[in-house]
Amino acid sequence: MKIDAVDFFYASMPEVTLEADGSQDALLVRVTAGDHVGWGECEASPLTSIAAFVAPRSHGVCQPVGASVLGESLDGPEDIARIARLVARNSMDLLQAAHTWSGIEIALWDLLGRAREEPVWRMLGYAESHAKLPYASMLFGATPQDTLERARSVQARGFHAVKFGWGRYGTGSAAEDADHVAAAREGLGSDALLLVDAGQIWGDDLQPALERLPALEAAGATWLEEPFLPHAFVPHAELARAARGVGIAGGEGAHTVHMATNLIDYGNVRFVQIDAARIGGIGPAKEVADHAVASGVTFVNHTFTSHLALSASLQPFAGLADHRICEYPVEPKRVAEVLSVQHITPDHNGEIRAPDAPGLGIDVDLDALRPYLRTVDIAIDGVPVFSSPLPVDGPPKVNAIS
Ligand SMILES: [Mg+2]
Repeated sequence: MKIDAVDFFYASMPEVTLEADGSQDALLVRVTAGDHVGWGECEASPLTSIAAFVAPRSHGVCQPVGASVLGESLDGPEDIARIARLVARNSMDLLQAAHTWSGIEIALWDLLGRAREEPVWRMLGYAESHAKLPYASMLFGATPQDTLERARSVQARGFHAVKFGWGRYGTGSAAEDADHVAAAREGLGSDALLLVDAGQIWGDDLQPALERLPALEAAGATWLEEPFLPHAFVPHAELARAARGVGIAGGEGAHTVHMATNLIDYGNVRFVQIDAARIGGIGPAKEVADHAVASGVTFVNHTFTSHLALSASLQPFAGLADHRICEYPVEPKRVAEVLSVQHITPDHNGEIRAPDAPGLGIDVDLDALRPYLRTVDIAIDGVPVFSSPLPVDGPPKVNAIS
């Protein structure tokens, strides 16, 4: 097969707000090779990622991603890895290349799996897609009482693992945060897993993170996520040394394999959280999963958008029975929800699995997505270099950029 076309579909809610919710817009990627089609999704900043595919080269190693992809042969996973090396070399100075390539890489795996009629996780060498325990992500409440009520409500929805984060956590005193963590534990009861996400709030400052440890230990928190900037390996390692029961988690910011493996090797995280739509796709995420297994670290997916992206994020560790915790978008925005025909829903045990179906096992619903599609035209000296593909005739219903 030869890669004939790569099409980008940009969709968004009518209004994109300042909340830390990555499901407000989406960039879908459709790859066509002969009669075969595959779909992927890039994480974050759709227009920037489209531009990285078509931007004129600045020099020999700052080429658009498209230069390394279009016309390439695709006959097996080794071709995906080969094209990944081309992108890394030819676009080494183009910082958005990793996000753009991630969505294309995912679509290439989907296309290959559909052509071979086997799930991506099987092409990665796994014999089985094991059950995962999805956790619900929530913001801390405005008050400890509010946090308590949120915890009770999500517990009532049947989740056995819950992550609280962001909000005011880390911005006030350690005593205030301790009250929120204790309230979360009280609302969840003693059995549910409690996870806490600091969202990089302390930069590289170890002390405030150390001050939060006693409350996290007392509440039996499983992990403290992203206490520091993703490259700040030294404070990660020092916090990990000081922590007893609670593990340090991180890795969602990784957009190369080495960013993630360094966090394992030098940051001593106990949980590495990888977003396949950021790190360069499913192949690099699987490399991190292999390194995590060899290092005694638990691999966790990171994903916060559609079930297409969720399926992609599950593939790299689908066959790892002992790596059970997984992120699951509980309340995605409508655009992320309607985007796919199928949804990965918890079974009677409250568990989910990567689909046992060709490719990613998720079909894109362009008709349902149509009200959210945005029209993008990029021209240079009046000559078009990109125009949105439309699934049907006529302009999309949402036009205003807000
Ligand atoms: Mg996080």
